[in-house]
Amino acid sequence: MKYVSTRDRMRTYSAAEAIVKGISDDGGLIVPSSFPVLDGAKIEELLAMDYPERAASVLAMYLDGFSYEELLGYTRKAYSRFDGEDPCPLVKVDDDLFMLELWHGPTYAFKDMALTLLPHLMVASKRKLGDMSRTLILVATSGDTGKAALEGFRDVEGTEIIVFYPVDGVSVMQKRQMLTQQGANVHVAGIRGNFDDAQTAVKKVFTDPEVIAKLKDRGIEMSSANSINWGRLAPQIAYYISAYCDLVTSGELRLGDKVNFVVPTGNFGNILAGYYAYRMGLPVHKLIVASNANNILTDFFNTGKYDVKRKFYKTMSPSMDILVSSNLERLIFEAEGRDSAKVRKIYEDLKEKGSFELDLSQLDLGVFEAGWADEDETNEAMNVFFDLDDYVLDPHTAVAASVYSEYVDETEDDTKTVIVSTASPYKFACDVYNAIAGAKEKDPDKAVMKLHAFTAAECPDGILALNSLPVRHKTVIDRDGVKQAVYDFVLGEEK
Ligand SMILES: *Cc1c(COP(=O)(O)O)cnc(C)c1O
Repeated sequence: MKYVSTRDRMRTYSAAEAIVKGISDDGGLIVPSSFPVLDGAKIEELLAMDYPERAASVLAMYLDGFSYEELLGYTRKAYSRFDGEDPCPLVKVDDDLFMLELWHGPTYAFKDMALTLLPHLMVASKRKLGDMSRTLILVATSGDTGKAALEGFRDVEGTEIIVFYPVDGVSVMQKRQMLTQQGANVHVAGIRGNFDDAQTAVKKVFTDPEVIAKLKDRGIEMSSANSINWGRLAPQIAYYISAYCDLVTSGELRLGDKVNFVVPTGNFGNILAGYYAYRMGLPVHKLIVASNANNILTDFFNTGKYDVKRKFYKTMSPSMDILVSSNLERLIFEAEGRDSAKVRKIYEDLKEKGSFELDLSQLDLGVFEAGWADEDETNEAMNVFFDLDDYVLDPHTAVAASVYSEYVDETEDDTKTVIVSTASPYKFACDVYNAIAGAKEKDPDKAVMKLHAFTAAECPDGILALNSLPVRHKTVIDRDGVKQAVYDFVLGEEK
């Protein structure tokens, strides 16, 4: 399997190069040159496996130069850091409705599914390439990626990591998780601005020739742990396929029956992995893109117009407060028949005009549905799911649940459906508790206790321990200060 750039199909990479580089030299995203085939026989083979085996087996279909045995070593290590026997249990909440809980990892959000594995893939990729340089991971986070990347890379030999987060754009718990991060190779800085400001500023530093040269002098190369990195995306494909296997082994589906997935979406990484599983051959009826008030993707899938010149809303689901969904570029590459010149033009338009428009009737995007939920609807979903199903949703997953209810009302589609559940409700305890108890608690620590008393849902130990850990990271910078921050953190006195 070779990889190509979305903006230049003639530019090819190996899997190891794709993982180490993170982004193509031409600014495009790195994508597989074709989709490996997942047929009935292959799914059958996966049925008997546990999750680390399924994940290794799916990854082996994509990662040339990595053997199944090697990958299994990495997936076993990564997923041993999760609570419980199954790192991503599928929980039945209603006759036709299931929750795929992806938040039993070290930071209680779905980012752990990929970020516990990425350091193994990255270190191995460098070794395969004979690359002796140290790796500097730069991350812009809307909340959950930052912590998951810090945990994944902490004290990993040969790596250093800097996470930039929007100072006022993450939840109290998310911020506390990052500011108390331990490890000798970790740095965290707040940026005054929103997530898009942080992401844009970090992207600029990645391609800044001066930064590249200065770091190279010191034997350091930058890489990304953001969801544009192929090493982030590939591990996510596995849980869509595994959830399907679970539905078959539990007798909910017969092999070949179709299933829907509803995905709370921000940067379009999670649902894109679902699309890749579908393109491989997984029997999918609909992939439902769920957005919060930042509903730019709903508009795109319904009209073809992607326009970032709009109001930015801060919501209860901060990891979805995003206007520029980076991974959408990979979908557009596929939808445009892999015409990289067209993709280049589309993204030039986006850069110059802040918008682009595609003729949806010409594109094969029929597997997608899109909807959005405002804050009231999100609260109501948390409320209703607790009342009727005794199930506690976090606000991100509640957006998906709300969009799904609306979808069923409109279509009467009775296909079995998996809602991809992306965070522990305890990570957003105030909003969750207030929604289901009709309260107005503002203290996150009290909210954790009250949520536990009210719902009896199990609370992760790591959440309880958070308020006793010392704050280690206090840096806050302006958005044009990212470059200097990189120098300060990594080069020390040698500016
Ligand atoms: C990151 C995140 C999302 C959005 O996922 P994307 O891959 O960016 O679309 C949704 N929910 C939670 C809890 C997240 O952390």
